[in-house]
Amino acid sequence: MQRILTRGEIETLDRTSIPRLILPAPDIFKIRAERLTTLAPDNPIKEYLELIALLSEAQQHLLEQDWDLPALDEVALAQAQAHGMPPFTASTHQRDSIWRTMLSALVAQLLQQDALPDAIRNNLTKLAKDTADSPDTIEQQADALLAQELANLDLAHAPFIMAALQVYWTLLVIRLNSQQLPASTPYGLCPCCGSQPVSTTVQMGGPKEQIRYATCSLCATQWHIVRVKCTHCEDTKTIAYHTLSEGSEAVKAESCDACQQYRKILYLNKEQFAEAFADDLASLTLDILMGEANYFRANNNPYFWQAAEPQ
Ligand SMILES: [Zn+2]
Ligand SMILES: [Zn+2]
Repeated sequence: MQRILTRGEIETLDRTSIPRLILPAPDIFKIRAERLTTLAPDNPIKEYLELIALLSEAQQHLLEQDWDLPALDEVALAQAQAHGMPPFTASTHQRDSIWRTMLSALVAQLLQQDALPDAIRNNLTKLAKDTADSPDTIEQQADALLAQELANLDLAHAPFIMAALQVYWTLLVIRLNSQQLPASTPYGLCPCCGSQPVSTTVQMGGPKEQIRYATCSLCATQWHIVRVKCTHCEDTKTIAYHTLSEGSEAVKAESCDACQQYRKILYLNKEQFAEAFADDLASLTLDILMGEANYFRANNNPYFWQAAEPQ
């Protein structure tokens, strides 16, 4: 089976320059669900990967529905372009309440699954009730998640709230074309929504061969980021790569001694179906190793939230 080129890739095949960014594909969550299902057997967190595969399938279902999103604001787009700022900055964008309708639909779809463990079912039932009865609490949780303020998070609800926000933001940015985006935006952050990357991926094939892209943890836009450079602080001198001795060569942790942070880097020439969210989540053992070596994860995988580290 060959990896199929996306629309953006086909458009750039005849150019010598590499695409600066790749907007999310319309089947992005389906691909993720399939990859999670492939990775789950024999994984130390098999059940969790299977749950997130179900969640990703539900996200794909949402993405394909016809949502009445607010129209693109051309003035705001032009202003963002003029100031070199992402047009849908997660921490400041006024979310339409439709995202909570998406959250309700997502939870309802998951609750239809017969195989859900009782603890998950109870958690989702409570989330459904909170979404209906306490929208302000859900909005506050969303604000905290998007700002990465971990202190007051409901960790059990976080992956599901984040999943609805991912669908909402993906629908916002999927309508853009790259000409509507600023030519340059702040380093290390998504050009569309200003969020941090979940991981980075070294590509394969066509003009992107051996080129690295970061994948946005919120909207899944990919943007070009040079290799052997810290994705957090831009340092180039203290970068090192770590793998598990028994682990896959396709997933490494790229650490930086200047800021003590790390992020995973995936290599498609080692595993052509590696996926930015799924392979990051499935290599949790590598995170444990990095923690033992006193490196900090630059940001959480949006499907897996841990309490804030005491500083
Ligand atoms: Zn983004
Ligand atoms: Zn750094």
